[in-house]
Amino acid sequence: MAAVLGLPAGAAAQVAATLEKKRRPVLVWLELQDCAGNTESMLRSSHPSITELVLSFFSWEYHETIMAAAGKQANAVLDRVVHEDAGKYLAIVEGSIPTGNPGYCTIGGRSALDIAKQVCGNAAAVIAVGSCAFDGGPQRSAPNPTGAISVGEAVPNLNLVNMGGCPHNPANTAALLVYWLTYGRMPALDAHKRPLFAYGHIIHDQCERRANFDAGRFVERWDDDGARRGYCLYKMGCKGPQGTFNCPVVRWNDGTSWPVESGHGCAACASYRFWDTALPLYQRLPGVPGFGVDITAGKIGGWMTAGVATGLALHGIASAARSQMRPRGEAPRGGPTEIGRGSGLVEREGPPEKS
Ligand code: SF4
Ligand code: SF4
Repeated sequence: MAAVLGLPAGAAAQVAATLEKKRRPVLVWLELQDCAGNTESMLRSSHPSITELVLSFFSWEYHETIMAAAGKQANAVLDRVVHEDAGKYLAIVEGSIPTGNPGYCTIGGRSALDIAKQVCGNAAAVIAVGSCAFDGGPQRSAPNPTGAISVGEAVPNLNLVNMGGCPHNPANTAALLVYWLTYGRMPALDAHKRPLFAYGHIIHDQCERRANFDAGRFVERWDDDGARRGYCLYKMGCKGPQGTFNCPVVRWNDGTSWPVESGHGCAACASYRFWDTALPLYQRLPGVPGFGVDITAGKIGGWMTAGVATGLALHGIASAARSQMRPRGEAPRGGPTEIGRGSGLVEREGPPEKS
């Protein structure tokens, strides 16, 4: 866990000592306009396991999918937490917040927006897991019939951490929870309020196929010799140079593998508004000249982000896409972000949320 967080070697003992104290802060998990994919992902947390998180490290009081209570009994639990533990509990939110129709997505007769305002507004800190809670997700793409917005937009001025991804990676969220238990605060964040330990490096810089990219060896068809040899998937639509995430390092299913190792390109699912900026999935983004040994990930990321700006403009949100290239170490504009530190240049994926 200390390694995932990028903490120095001595910190592991402090993390272990904290977990042994079993202070058990209260935690609630809301599922709003969601598919439960982030819950499914969290159930596969292994270090610590979901059982340890729910029963030992936290008092995990409310989570529709896994709690025994239902109906009025469940609502009473959430009410009690909000009133008796105000300002002390953690709230995790999965799903976007629909605002387009007051009767849409209600729980116990209350709208998702009303629940989010009350539960998040009284929490010590809020963790938005998955693409939908982070930025509105696919529901937010035009025409956005439900008026979906992110948690940060629905309830401004929260002590908010965004764990983007589709779904979030449970190893990172478990690490974030352990960090909060250990240090009593949230770790350093980027301009999108994502923790730098998980979102601070470009995927392309951590990919085991990177040597093939640099050497100009690419998969040209799904069944060609390059595919069998593990060549770079950039020409097959991989968006790894565009996104920042530690997916190649923490991987999935207890660190077994990740999609690019399995032969599929990355969709940059942890990036801001990736449903609008990184698709079509199998289409190589245009305007990336001369990729090969003389091109850095930062340059590729810049061209790609410039390309997706056109797509965002078509969705009527052109102001939401400005890629900025800065020399390493230079202070970013509009926030403390430093992402893409592994490359020679630093990249931003888009504007921070207003909250
Ligand atoms: S383009 Fe994709 S497959 Fe190729 S090196 Fe980058 S992240 Fe890996
Ligand atoms: S490979 Fe890319 S799209 Fe797939 S889970 Fe990892 S970061 Fe997300």
